[in-house]
Amino acid sequence: MNANHFDLLLKGPLLDDAQHINGYREIGIRGGRVAAVAERLPDAVADRVVAAPEGGFFSPGFIDIHAHVYAGVTSWGAVADPPCLTGGVTTVVDAGSPGWTMLQGFRWLIHERTRVRALCFLHISGVGLVNAWVNECEDLSHLHPLTVGEHAAENSDLVVGIKVRQGRQQVGDHGTEPLRRALEAAEISGTPVMCHIAQGIPLARVLEQMRAGDIITHCFQGRGGIGENVIDETGSLHPAAVEARARGVVMDVGHGGGSFRWEQAERALELGYVPDVVSTDLHAYNLHGPLYDMALTLTKFLHLGLPLDRVIALATSGPARAIRRPELGTLKPGSPADVTLFHVASEATVLWDTHGGRRATDRRIRVDAVWRDGIAVDLAALLHESEADITRRCRLRGPDGLTHSWRAALKARGIDPDAV
Ligand SMILES: [Zn+2]
Repeated sequence: MNANHFDLLLKGPLLDDAQHINGYREIGIRGGRVAAVAERLPDAVADRVVAAPEGGFFSPGFIDIHAHVYAGVTSWGAVADPPCLTGGVTTVVDAGSPGWTMLQGFRWLIHERTRVRALCFLHISGVGLVNAWVNECEDLSHLHPLTVGEHAAENSDLVVGIKVRQGRQQVGDHGTEPLRRALEAAEISGTPVMCHIAQGIPLARVLEQMRAGDIITHCFQGRGGIGENVIDETGSLHPAAVEARARGVVMDVGHGGGSFRWEQAERALELGYVPDVVSTDLHAYNLHGPLYDMALTLTKFLHLGLPLDRVIALATSGPARAIRRPELGTLKPGSPADVTLFHVASEATVLWDTHGGRRATDRRIRVDAVWRDGIAVDLAALLHESEADITRRCRLRGPDGLTHSWRAALKARGIDPDAV
């Protein structure tokens, strides 16, 4: 075999933080893996050559470490491929939709079937995240660390860690006992914990238990009360958030449908508190707004003033480190050839947070092409699930009789969700 013969040769600017690359490269791909990366591959012969168009950048495929894609089993679950892949994501990690009772189903129905590489955090509650009415940690008999830890350890190709939600609503009167049990399961499986923060539990009580490498998700949620947010009432960083960061606790955005407030993110970044990971918390109820996808979520961090290469690192090397998969989030020779090609379009765009706050920008990250294991994905052929289809499948009626719709909720407040 000719060492310079590739299935696919990509040429153009490459942003690959794990290799400290920000410049023109030629990337040779063979057998689904990266075979060579160099400024020039002079004698390269390839079955197919793709050059980045003017303004285009190659990067490792984005990794989204917080999403919900267990469609058809949990009401939160989005059908993974269309929103993930068109948003540039080649690895999606479901953040705790499966409890141990439905983990094998996640393998059969999702992991083995999606084009996007689908991994998961295993929920500490055997119930998992069934639907928004089930508070999965209210009954502690569902939280069995040994069972969860053993399932995680035996499925380490699929399970990257243990998930727990530490909001008052999910845990009832149990304080941080669910987190303690999640940490026990994580010790058994040798994995990190991802802990969702929300209102009703003091942030310091959660953070003091987190170990280096454990992950806080929803770091800019801004819906907590006094002592429950990363940025406190006076606009300062919560001391516990500074201390935890210094110990190596990972800060993840987990934007979601209710967990991203502009004022939190803006003030944190002003104070130099840049998250380690940008994830979407994409689910069935936010992919038609305000979240949409990873590309738009990353655009928000470009708008917040981070340079492009730093933004892309927060969706590649940062998440790969957080889930301890060093072969992902980089195009190092030997790694899977998961690649995203994108450009920054000059395009007037409204960027919504999850509390009705908006910012205007004229720069937007647009994804042009995606490869998984060296195979191009036909993005235009992906069938996106409509809001009406999702409503039929995932209908939840509130006490007001309304179904969950971000668009309808904004309109009810007299705000036009489509105004630019
Ligand atoms: Zn979530």
